[in-house]
Amino acid sequence: MAMTRRRLLSAAAMTAVAPALGGRAWGAPLPREADIVVIGAGAAGIAAARRIQAANRRVIVVEAASQIGGRCLTDSTSFDVPFDRGARWMHNPETNPMVRLARNAGLAISAASLGQKIRIGQRNARAGETEEFLAALVRANRAIDDASRGKADVSCASVLPKNLGDWAGTAEFVLGANATGKDLRDVSVMDKARAQDRNAAIGCRQGLGVLIARLSEQVPLALSTPASHIIWGGRDVAVATPAGKIAARAAVVTVSSNVLAAGNIKFTPEIPKRQLDAAARLSLGSYDRIALQLSGSPLGLARDDVIIEQSNSTRTALLSAHIGGSSLCVIDVAGSFGRDLSGEGEQAMVAFAVEWLTKLFGSDVAAAVKKTSATRWNASPFALGAMSVAPPGGQPSRKILTEPIGNLFLAGEATHETLWGTIDGAWESGERAAEAALRKIGALGEPATAPSRVPKQRRRGTQGKFN
Ligand SMILES: Cc1cc2nc3c(=O)[nH]c(=O)nc-3n(C[C@H](O)[C@H](O)[C@H](O)COP(=O)(O)OP(=O)(O)OC[C@H]3O[C@@H](n4cnc5c(N)ncnc54)[C@H](O)[C@@H]3O)c2cc1C
Repeated sequence: MAMTRRRLLSAAAMTAVAPALGGRAWGAPLPREADIVVIGAGAAGIAAARRIQAANRRVIVVEAASQIGGRCLTDSTSFDVPFDRGARWMHNPETNPMVRLARNAGLAISAASLGQKIRIGQRNARAGETEEFLAALVRANRAIDDASRGKADVSCASVLPKNLGDWAGTAEFVLGANATGKDLRDVSVMDKARAQDRNAAIGCRQGLGVLIARLSEQVPLALSTPASHIIWGGRDVAVATPAGKIAARAAVVTVSSNVLAAGNIKFTPEIPKRQLDAAARLSLGSYDRIALQLSGSPLGLARDDVIIEQSNSTRTALLSAHIGGSSLCVIDVAGSFGRDLSGEGEQAMVAFAVEWLTKLFGSDVAAAVKKTSATRWNASPFALGAMSVAPPGGQPSRKILTEPIGNLFLAGEATHETLWGTIDGAWESGERAAEAALRKIGALGEPATAPSRVPKQRRRGTQGKFN
């Protein structure tokens, strides 16, 4: 009989204590055996576990945090609408499996509003100015694509056209920090150009963390159970956790590249230097959200308006106003500026958000702030950052991370060559690693030579969107 977490939970007759941000607790003793152990209950881990279950093999997911979702984490209680602390948008709806899964799970999904505006000081950019900016973005993207076909990989910043004028800083923010968590000087043209176009943005009203938790409902998993030591070889694997050891035939490891590179999990034998170096090269950028509950309408903005500013400094941000028509406004900070700011702590982040909004919308903002919350992903011990992006020369590292290491298989957004930094990239990587692990234990035949989900689409300009 297939083991599900529900069965284990009911067998244990335990009292489940739901942590503040969702998720469920494990009440039964940790199983001592599985066919495959999955490390991490983010998008990649849940996808891997579901794929292993679909092949009728025993799986157990061990998760260090007290909730499911990893970098998809929804705070459903602090504000009058859910606050997605991590991933918020699903892109490319025609091919993104998460959109269908959300729909099938009965969650409400809808496209982002088209209300995107640029502030120039305290006024909105005029139509002609917005056109100029969008043209600058197209030229910048084209220069990056062209450079990616060169022999040597270089930084995106080094190939930007020199004549972007007043829009240079804004283009750098939109294509660099805001898109990848790193400034363009730290981003490889090859990695950026290989990234699949992230067109359209589809949100989930209940939150993407809720989606991942919903998709995990039939998956046996243990929360607050970090893998501390993985002993692996050609045939068996043993995963040590504070709740005991699990013996299996293979493991899928989905922890972030920063967690892997930090050595927070001990491996015996050690993971080959080739893969460890690859994880270190694909270090995570910085991306945080500062949530402000504002009374009234001090910004004069409409439901779901998205605002950036014309700026020639990295000290800038992106605002999502009145999310779902609520009083919740979220200011995203990223890249080197976001990293420094989040290092100063939540109070400094909120102070910046208020100062920035005041600069753009006037002095009524401060008095309207009723409640605040800010993420600090770099300091979050089980993530250690936001999303991976390769520096010049680092793009081949993604493929290196997909190579099997005995009976260990790495997954997670960093291992996806075109959808890195996304929830669907993480999901696909989990399925891929699960299939490789199933093949290793003889539970699946050799793969048909399947192409990846969609061939790389050329960037078609910005289609009037900047986030
Ligand atoms: C602020 C922010 C905004 C984002 N916005 C978007 C967006 O709009 N759209 C989009 O598509 N993507 C977005 N992303 C990226 C997206 O969230 C990630 O690509 C994706 O969630 C990564 O999933 P994963 O499974 O690879 O890794 P993770 O979600 O990090 O999962 C790894 C899991 O491993 C666990 N773990 C760590 N150490 C251990 C251990 N020792 N033992 C057991 N478990 C362990 C972690 O707790 C975690 O749950 C955003 C990310 C951030 C941070």
